[in-house]
Amino acid sequence: MSTLLPVADALAQVLAAAGTTGATIELALIDALGAVLAEDVIATIAVPGHDNSAMDGYALRAADATGPLPVSQRIAAGSAAAGAELAAGTAARIFTGAVIPPGADAVVMQENCQEHAGVVTISGPVVEGQNIRPRGQDIALGAAVLARGRVLRPQDLGLLASVGRAAVRVYRPLRVAVLSTGDELVEPGSGPLQSGQLYNSNRYTLAGLVRALGMTFIDGGIVPDDPGATATALAEAAATADCVITSGGVSVGEEDHVKAQVERLGRLDLWKLAIKPGKPLAFGRIGDTPFIGLPGNPTSVFVTFCLIARPFLLKLQGVSEPARPSLLAEAAFRVDEPGTRQDYLRVTLAGAAAGLRAHRFPNQSSGVLSSVSHSDALAVIPPGTTVAEGDKVEVILLDLLA
Ligand code: AMP
Ligand code: MG
Repeated sequence: MSTLLPVADALAQVLAAAGTTGATIELALIDALGAVLAEDVIATIAVPGHDNSAMDGYALRAADATGPLPVSQRIAAGSAAAGAELAAGTAARIFTGAVIPPGADAVVMQENCQEHAGVVTISGPVVEGQNIRPRGQDIALGAAVLARGRVLRPQDLGLLASVGRAAVRVYRPLRVAVLSTGDELVEPGSGPLQSGQLYNSNRYTLAGLVRALGMTFIDGGIVPDDPGATATALAEAAATADCVITSGGVSVGEEDHVKAQVERLGRLDLWKLAIKPGKPLAFGRIGDTPFIGLPGNPTSVFVTFCLIARPFLLKLQGVSEPARPSLLAEAAFRVDEPGTRQDYLRVTLAGAAAGLRAHRFPNQSSGVLSSVSHSDALAVIPPGTTVAEGDKVEVILLDLLA
């Protein structure tokens, strides 16, 4: 019996082989959501640019707050900075975001002030610095704002706008070709199924997974189980894509042609992974184009893509730290028989007083795609372990993967 390759070892091997394409483009900031930053952004301004008021109220010298103060200035947000110095013993009417006048060192919110006939009376103590947002409190001049290799989130776009960026240099979205192998496959929409046929679901799952990563899906369609057709389809895909992904055809049956044809066109490792669902996984190159051969079973496709292909593609795309966030949940199920492979159980999560509880989807067969659709997470059960109800298990949230 050949030994199974641990998931972590397979991942380390594919990541070690992932360079970046290096190709970059300039994008308008408004269009850059999900793109991967290809530059280190340094702040050329401080944010905020001036000490400013956090409140609608009155700016004054904290030491003057003992008695009524004549109101000597009015400063609204947007009025130019470096106005007149605040005369000692007076207060300035000020509004949220307005620049603090030189000399003032505190702002009292208007709820604690009473103004009559141009004189303001303050109630309560006043502390130096209160309600003043200091210049550069968010971002200092010259500070590193965001680093190359970061996937831009909505809040990152806002942050880049705050330092005045209207465009950013990002890595060109990776082009990922997806081929579905199998004579039994029929495209939905192309007619009813004959006996022995099934609709090609992997194409849709993989298109979604690729696009969810902000990458370009190149549709390689269905490839028949034939050596010549497989070779042609693989070569064409490799010529246009940055990475080629296939589903099916990497088992050891004589209808599985992917392995032999990739070996002819490039090089390939075929692994038996210690993973469930999953197991056969091919990794190599067609010419210079990286290649990943996923298993055929729809659930295996999803799991092996998320655990192996996804981090590989993200690294190829230039992401510096592909995240795979997980947390702990309490098992609402038992695993009595220790397995030989790392099992990724499809589970739903429910909140409980003590924390999350993971409920196992009843049918964990690798052909049952419902198990993925009707789950929130993958519960990781390492080889050789059993689980008692109530044990803490690691769960990987699907919404963060796809
Ligand atoms: P294979 O690895 O090619 O032997 O495929 C394993 C199993 O996955 C078989 O039951 C296939 O019918 C099924 N399968 C392969 N490709 C697809 C696909 N694109 N969509 C749905 N099921 C598939
Ligand atoms: Mg097949």
